[in-house]
Amino acid sequence: MKTKLAEDTYLVGIGVSSGIAIGEACLVDQRPLVDQSRIEAADVEAELQRFEQAVERARGQLQKIKQAVSRQKHLREHLYILDTHLLILEDEMLLGETEKAIQAHMNAEGALTQVLEQLRALFDNIDDEYLRERRSDVDAVGERLLRILTGVSERSIGNLGRKSLVVAHDLSPAETMQMDRSKVLGFITDKGGRTSHTAILARSLDIPAVVGLESVTSMVYDGVPAIIDGSAGVVVLNPSEATFKEYLKRKQTYEYLEQDLVKYYDLPAITRDHVSIALRGNLEIAGDIEQARKFFAQGIGLYRTEFLYLGRTTPPDEDEQYDAYCEILRQIGDESVTIRTLDIGGDKFVPELNLEDEDNPAMGLRAIRFSLYEERLFRIQLRAILRASSCGRVKILFPMISGVAEIRDCREIIDEIKAELDGEGIAYDHDIEIGVMIETPSAVMIAPLLAREVDFFSIGTNDLIQYFLAVDRGNEHVAYLYDPMHPAIIRALKATCDAANEAGIGISMCGEVAGEPLYSLILIGLGFRELSMNPACVPRVKRVLRQVSQAEGKELVEKLLLLATSKEVSTMVEQEMRKRLPEIFAQPLI
Ligand code: PEP
Ligand code: MG
Repeated sequence: MKTKLAEDTYLVGIGVSSGIAIGEACLVDQRPLVDQSRIEAADVEAELQRFEQAVERARGQLQKIKQAVSRQKHLREHLYILDTHLLILEDEMLLGETEKAIQAHMNAEGALTQVLEQLRALFDNIDDEYLRERRSDVDAVGERLLRILTGVSERSIGNLGRKSLVVAHDLSPAETMQMDRSKVLGFITDKGGRTSHTAILARSLDIPAVVGLESVTSMVYDGVPAIIDGSAGVVVLNPSEATFKEYLKRKQTYEYLEQDLVKYYDLPAITRDHVSIALRGNLEIAGDIEQARKFFAQGIGLYRTEFLYLGRTTPPDEDEQYDAYCEILRQIGDESVTIRTLDIGGDKFVPELNLEDEDNPAMGLRAIRFSLYEERLFRIQLRAILRASSCGRVKILFPMISGVAEIRDCREIIDEIKAELDGEGIAYDHDIEIGVMIETPSAVMIAPLLAREVDFFSIGTNDLIQYFLAVDRGNEHVAYLYDPMHPAIIRALKATCDAANEAGIGISMCGEVAGEPLYSLILIGLGFRELSMNPACVPRVKRVLRQVSQAEGKELVEKLLLLATSKEVSTMVEQEMRKRLPEIFAQPLI
């Protein structure tokens, strides 16, 4: 029995899809209760069969959802999620280990639960946020199987009855796709992060969502009034009349501003003092390209190629990569596409890479280190990128560079491949631009030296902040320290920007900070002329840029550089932005 909620119960999670939703909660908590018990030797065969039948049924359910989803045009791009789930249902470890545990006299649901726990532990050790969150795919498949085994039916968000705020422990992509869009006002979940599928889908369906609330399902009951502020990452349960009225006003303003945003789509990103800024799109999954075009992103400033390698048992070969890159270039037309080479570490999705477990994967064989170690794979990718450079404007970007030697090694390999291609008479862009991600403290410190070796820098703030402040970017316990407004970060950005401008090379930013309108003024003040972001952020950033000047930005940066703490910096930034654009940067209620 849940206790009655106090008025104005505020919860803070991760806002992953902006907008405000007000309504009644509907709890969609389908976690099955598992009874782990021993079975007799005589029952092992029957139990193995029961498990096999559950796998078959799960496959049938997923195929059915897939058919229904493929009939809905706006969801088709997400079909790959269901394919991933179907692949997991064939996973040797999941099936084989569960069968082994059944043979060791554990009942099917107990055996499966045990194996799922082992798999979760494996995923928890993965350093990459995106990959770690793919754990939710395994969880979703596991829960589907457990529901079948325990006879718990799926409470479908496909027929909610009335418009509601969906509250769930975690929403599997399959569940999310089955929902009736006209009935779901917003999502609130215990689990999830910025790159979880619920987040990706909520954003692409434009539904306000706050995830990672840890225990919201244990507090909420059906019908309780609630508010979701997806922009601030705040949920208010049982709001008072005053709070309700305030959020209603905010919702109306937000909706007005969103409609107003459309008028910025095809306007240039230019400041009041006529400084032109290139706003490019980050590309993670194939569907992002449509978003990039919809929001008029100027080409692709970061193509995260690791996503070509995921959810499969062998890495893509040269021709497959070449085709994928050319297809993106074809869709982007005259603008440039910056292709980042593989940024992967400790990845169980590419088993034949045979990566060893590492004690400290964030600082281990990741990104460029992995590519230089596995040179054969690196050469395949570089050949594909170079060949694709004959299909459009390509730039090559190397991730996680920490010293000049690494970039020299990369250049040497590129020169060798160019010679190979020349010998084979294969066309490519001889002047292809080569750049490095600036995302380690050492790269910042030697930025003037690196600038002599490359054509451009791209600052990856997601990692830069993690390594500069020594804060694991995926660890919720130290999340309060992960702050883009730390004086060390402002100084690091300034030093890198100055080094690039002095050397006359390109400078861009492609981490999450680039797409956050609150920071747009500072970024142009620091000297950035190119920013790459989630495509949906492009109009939001543009709206701010068109209403400020670079001169104001420079002035603000000068003042920020005198401040000593993150709090002082962010307070000043918020005040300055609120002063200029009060509707966009409304004061949060908590
Ligand atoms: C970054 O680190 O800021 C970045 C853009 O790269 P990723 O998030 O893919 O590590
Ligand atoms: Mg990075």
